[in-house]
Amino acid sequence: MHRKPLYLSFDDGVTKSDRSVIIEAIREILSRAGAESFVSVSDVSDWKCHPRSHAGLTGWNSVQWYIETAAEYSRENQIDTDALLLLLRNEPWQEKEHYDVLVSSRDFYARDLNFCFGSGIHEFGMVLSTARFRGDPERLTTVTMHEMGHAFGLIPSTRTKNVTSSLGLHCTNRCIMRQGLTSSEWEAHARDRITYGPFCQQCINDLRGYFAQA
Ligand SMILES: [Zn+2]
Ligand SMILES: [Zn+2]
Repeated sequence: MHRKPLYLSFDDGVTKSDRSVIIEAIREILSRAGAESFVSVSDVSDWKCHPRSHAGLTGWNSVQWYIETAAEYSRENQIDTDALLLLLRNEPWQEKEHYDVLVSSRDFYARDLNFCFGSGIHEFGMVLSTARFRGDPERLTTVTMHEMGHAFGLIPSTRTKNVTSSLGLHCTNRCIMRQGLTSSEWEAHARDRITYGPFCQQCINDLRGYFAQA
C-alpha cells in the first residue's frame, strides 16, 4: 500500500532544530509528489516514550527500547541499521499499515560501511542518524529527502534510462536521488538541490506514479 500514514519518532538526543529540518524535508517531498493528502505525518515520539520501570524498558513501547535493543546486536558505539530495520519490521504495530521513520542521534553503520547516514526502504520508511550532520541542515534535508525518496519507490525497477546500480538503484541526472557515499558528495548534492531543486523531472514523474497507486 502506498497511501498510508507516516509515524515519525525521534530519540531524546535529536535536537529540536534537527527535528524541524527533518519534518520540513518530509513535507517537501510529499508536496513535490503531490501526495500531502495521501500521507499524514504524525510525530509519535512521546506516545512511544514510556517511562523506564524497575524492570527496564517495555518492549516495543519507546524509541529508546528500539535503539537500545538494536545496540545489543551492533558493534560498540554504533547502531547497525539492519538490526534497527528488523525491529521495525517485526513490531506488533505493523498490524496497521504505515510508514515508519525512526531518527536517532546515535551513529549508524551498515554491513561493510564504516558509517551510514541512514537507510530508506521501498514502501516501508527509513531510519536516519543525525550524528554526522551537526550544524549542516542543508545536508540533513538532502539526505532525508533522498532516503524518503527510496521509501516512496525511487528508483522503480522499471526505469531503463538515467539509472545506475550502486548499493540500490540511483538516478544519474542532476538530482538528489544520485548515490552519495561521502560527506563531500552530499555537500555537492545539497548545493545542487538549493540551486536547481531536489528532483529531476524523471524522479518527480516516478514519485507521482508511485502515489497514483493507492
Ligand atoms: Zn540511496
Ligand atoms: Zn532523478
